[in-house]
Amino acid sequence: MARQRSGIVLVLCAPSGTGKTTLTKRLLAEFSRFAYSISYTTRQPRTGEVNGRDYHFVTVAEFTRLRDEGFFAEWAEVHGNFYGTPLQATLDMLRDGRDVIFDIDVQGASQLRGSLRRGCYVFILPPSRAELERRLRARGTDDEPTIQRRLANAAKELDQAHWFNAWIVNEDLETAYDELRAAYIAATLSPSCSPDLVGGLMEGWREGR
Ligand code: 5GP
Repeated sequence: MARQRSGIVLVLCAPSGTGKTTLTKRLLAEFSRFAYSISYTTRQPRTGEVNGRDYHFVTVAEFTRLRDEGFFAEWAEVHGNFYGTPLQATLDMLRDGRDVIFDIDVQGASQLRGSLRRGCYVFILPPSRAELERRLRARGTDDEPTIQRRLANAAKELDQAHWFNAWIVNEDLETAYDELRAAYIAATLSPSCSPDLVGGLMEGWREGR
């Protein structure tokens, strides 16, 4: 019996510098069933970012218009810019049977959970404050005030970690990836993803198939 299941959402939250982007890319490369939720943002594109692939880059006026029209499944202001997840595009991907991976902040994850409960909300933790600070400095992309702001934000985000389905400490990238993979696969086995599985089996069972 072919096992059909519906798509699930996999939401990854982590303070910046925790390795979320690397882990997301690995999942996308390993599982072809994944689709990536491309957010809308008002921040400026960084070097190498492509409009429509990494983000949909829009003006504040455009973002506000879309938000007021109910276009977003969730939205938030992060580090002084607006970010939002398009609702219809998400529903379309799920209906097509894709699993959808979201790289969003904690405020957005909390809003999304209100409407999309089925799935897996994963919080990726740094091993310690000192290690997070070391990694932010090693990236060499942020000035001192930005590093301090990211550390302060990290503390606020960690405060919200309690309601997530899974916690993964990214001390060693390979171990963290294995754990993330396991959390994802476990989520796809939930009965709510395949509501007709047992019914279908029993139907065939009664008929001796
Ligand atoms: P960055 O500007 O570095 O790409 O992202 C900054 C933060 O915004 C990250 O924590 C990222 O997860 C979050 N973010 C990206 N897209 C969205 C979104 O659509 N909604 C929310 N709430 N946060 C987002």
